[in-house]
Amino acid sequence: MAENTTNTVMFHSTRSSSKTYTSKQAIRRGIADDGGLFVTDCLGETRYDISNLSGKTYKQIAKDVLQILLPDFTSSELDDCVEKAYGSQWEDTEITPLKALGNNNDFVLELFHGPTCAFKDVALQILPQFISHTKDVSDSNQNVMILTATSGDTGKAALAGFADVEGTSMVTFYPEGKVSKIQELQMTTQSGDNVKVCAVRGNFDDAQSGVKQIFTNNSINETVENNNHALLSSANSINIGRLIPQVVYYFYAYSKLVEQGVIELGDEVEFCVPTGNFGNILAGYYAKMLGLPVKHLIVASNSNNVLFDFLVSGTYNKIRPFNQTIAPSMDILVSSNLERMLYYMCDKDTRLLQMLMNDLQQWGAFEIPDNVLSKIRKLFGCGWANEKQIRDSIKECWDNHNYVIDPHTACGYFVMNHIPHDSNVPRVLLSTASPYKFPRVVCQSLGLNVQDLDDFGCMELLEKKTSTKSPSMLSELKNKTARFNDVINVEDMPDYVLKCANEIC
Ligand SMILES: *Cc1c(COP(=O)(O)O)cnc(C)c1O
Repeated sequence: MAENTTNTVMFHSTRSSSKTYTSKQAIRRGIADDGGLFVTDCLGETRYDISNLSGKTYKQIAKDVLQILLPDFTSSELDDCVEKAYGSQWEDTEITPLKALGNNNDFVLELFHGPTCAFKDVALQILPQFISHTKDVSDSNQNVMILTATSGDTGKAALAGFADVEGTSMVTFYPEGKVSKIQELQMTTQSGDNVKVCAVRGNFDDAQSGVKQIFTNNSINETVENNNHALLSSANSINIGRLIPQVVYYFYAYSKLVEQGVIELGDEVEFCVPTGNFGNILAGYYAKMLGLPVKHLIVASNSNNVLFDFLVSGTYNKIRPFNQTIAPSMDILVSSNLERMLYYMCDKDTRLLQMLMNDLQQWGAFEIPDNVLSKIRKLFGCGWANEKQIRDSIKECWDNHNYVIDPHTACGYFVMNHIPHDSNVPRVLLSTASPYKFPRVVCQSLGLNVQDLDDFGCMELLEKKTSTKSPSMLSELKNKTARFNDVINVEDMPDYVLKCANEIC
């Protein structure tokens, strides 16, 4: 239960605190006018009393945590959101089951049992529900039009969450040829009269900055507002409505460790998190601020190791080659949510944040003060895996534990096994996608011959080899045909959005 819950939690930009918003307003807007991310200075004032965790279901913990972080939602609104988001569309009634990985005090938290088989479902099943409860704070009962850029998983998870949700519509952009075949089919076969899917010639960062530019372009925003009676907003993990639901599973994992007698209430644990945009791991930081006993949070990257270099040196430098890897949802050079962690670690200094983000925009790099770096390093560990190490980790995890992991989770597995740690402290690896979302790479890593197989053939092979079952949402794609096939250049994204607004708002 929340202690001291008040209704005065206000949000403002990481880059300025002059304008403030309630959580409902912040969720509707997605990103601040100045390009900063919404944060609240109240984070950590109300803590979650962990002695209340025991015996609670995922949904009950969700209601408690959300009430602390989103206090301007009424408790019945949150009940409604939670019930709709974590219902029978989840393949596992536990929502995020915790499994032991061998018997060395290591665990896996499976976050991929939602409708699109990746961890983004946890947040994107509930975000549309939040949005549908925010109309009361809009001036004119306006609809919300969601724009997302996706490196593969966000797009589909958002589409699945928003399809045919009253008062919303959405357009998603993905980098052409840079998502897996299955991921592409998941998106292009999406049903719903209020959704559009479009490929962009470029990489994820191009698509993401294209979307960010649309959000900060007044003339597009006004046109959509006036002509289509809709507010442009974001479902990317920069939206606090995306971030906050992810705090819940850190508490859930902890409650399971206590329940299973692995730890006693109050003992510290570590989490190892495959990271791209820094959303998932930031939620772990929020959980710690809310009172969860977290010793370390470990950032695991692929060869786009910009976060690793940053955490080691204090310099964030995005001017580097972009690698297309076998863990494509982490192929990111501008890790947006890092800005929120920096905000809190810099003692909420909006001026400093503004300077750093300016440097990033202008020079492609920024450097943080030494004292901030050492504070960050006390909590955040880091590591990264190259392509071979990812493949070897998939094999090793299968050989040692009879447990199949996807290439993103494999980055975490590799880092977890190569970073020094205190073996008395349990570690939880967050598993972010089903291995069946990347069946070709997983089969290859296990030494299987996939030469003449399409991705669906690979799924069947993986089923046979590992005696596991592919999620039906993925195997059923085989018989579906694509509804969407637009491909555009980055510079044409604004016009495309205006066109879509006329069709689906
Ligand atoms: C999005 C994603 C990640 C990275 O999560 P962030 O919140 O961006 O750090 C990792 N793995 C998978 C499978 C993903 O879809």
